Amino acid sequence: MTTIDSQPASIDPNISVEDFVAAAEAFLESKLQRRPPTIEQEWGEGEFDVSVFHAMTYEVERAHLDKLMEWVRAKAERGYHAITWPTELGGLGLSRAHSRAFGRLERQFQTPGVHETVAVTRTLIAPTVDVFGSDVQKQRWIPQFISGESLCCQLFSEPGAGSDLAGLACRAERDGDEWVVNGQKVWSSGAQFSQWGELIARTDPSVVKHKGMTAFVIPMDLPGIEIRPIAQMSGGSSFCEVFFSDVRIPDDMRLGDEGDGWKVALTTLGFERDHSEGEGGGASGGSWSKVLATANAMGVADDPVIRDQLAQTFIRSRVESLVNRRAADLARSGTPGPESSLGKILWTEGMRHMSDVVSTILGPRLIADTGEWGTYAWGDHLLGAPGYRIAGGSDEVQRNIIGERVLGLPREPKADTGPWTDIPR
Ligand SMILES: Cc1cc2nc3c(=O)[nH]c(=O)nc-3n(C[C@H](O)[C@H](O)[C@H](O)COP(=O)(O)OP(=O)(O)OC[C@H]3O[C@@H](n4cnc5c(N)ncnc54)[C@H](O)[C@@H]3O)c2cc1C
Repeated sequence: MTTIDSQPASIDPNISVEDFVAAAEAFLESKLQRRPPTIEQEWGEGEFDVSVFHAMTYEVERAHLDKLMEWVRAKAERGYHAITWPTELGGLGLSRAHSRAFGRLERQFQTPGVHETVAVTRTLIAPTVDVFGSDVQKQRWIPQFISGESLCCQLFSEPGAGSDLAGLACRAERDGDEWVVNGQKVWSSGAQFSQWGELIARTDPSVVKHKGMTAFVIPMDLPGIEIRPIAQMSGGSSFCEVFFSDVRIPDDMRLGDEGDGWKVALTTLGFERDHSEGEGGGASGGSWSKVLATANAMGVADDPVIRDQLAQTFIRSRVESLVNRRAADLARSGTPGPESSLGKILWTEGMRHMSDVVSTILGPRLIADTGEWGTYAWGDHLLGAPGYRIAGGSDEVQRNIIGERVLGLPREPKADTGPWTDIPR
């Protein structure tokens, strides 16, 4: 595996946001086409994409990913891929205000879009390595993860461990300087495209479940790893089952101390629930402006019932963005805390509400493809949105976190406080 050694062009560490934006705009102008300022102006032209998950063949999804990673690498030449990361890891070492300003600007251009595995690698796993990795591990993994050089998937969930992640059974047993892994993971998004995986495995079954796990960052092409994509109802297969049969992992791929796996997993999940800093490529699923444009195009935006629903959609999207800003401010000096659960629920509830509004606007056009631009395509939002009510911790689990850790309500009763081996399975 390679790491990038190219450093971005040097930039004044005291550059103002205004000067930074001016230079970034010139860069973006030289690389990309501008989007029309409003969706109304592009209505009927090009691709109308509100999909939450990709419903593509392997080859088409691979090509989409390649294009996107090429764009991240182009940004990496100037450090725009990693504005807040320190310079020694290939970033620019600038503030979140610089990063947000770049994101706003980038959204005005036609970028190659988004892909969950790129976001997972750059915004979940790279920051986790930054928290738990040794200096050598940080130098080895972070530059390649943030620069579009390689992808990394999350190997957490198992057939018997999702919400109860701490009950996982995939075993890693020490053998000298190596670990031998046996077991199964499931729902591993993008595993078929990833060079690396963040694995949480049980290393000590004799202690309480939260204490007996250890994290690793492993190459996905190790002998004994088998990746099987899962067919989705939407047509694609972005998620995989991953099987481990006597897979040998060197100890220098362990992330954090032995027994720290739960802390590592919670840190990654905390970043997953933090929706405060979206990538400039745009959000997955529909948006307020696309809902409004659809209502206008269907000639129903003046209908009093639809107007009321549109107002609700706008309010929800504003509240979500303000709550996320607040969570970002709280998390600025550390890793995201339980506040990010609130942002995640607002996001998934907002997507559900949007599905309802769009169903009212489009009616049967959602079921039968009339060929009319910007209508039947909304089905991808409707079919995909429920997935994020489960991924990264279900809505119910987020509510438990908010209840227990934000509101201080009594904790759920626990029947599994003894050694992991004694828990009935
Ligand atoms: C789109 C998508 C992408 C995913 N990507 C990945 C990935 O890349 N890597 C990975 O490791 N995993 C991934 N997952 C798996 C995901 O993390 C799990 O599906 C999730 O944690 C729920 O676990 P489960 O499916 O086993 O459901 P269960 O845990 O069995 O839950 C079933 C139901 O019970 C409810 N429930 C469970 N416990 C409680 C409780 N204590 N209180 C109240 N209600 C409860 C849940 O809310 C849910 O409604 C993905 C899932 C989805 C849908």
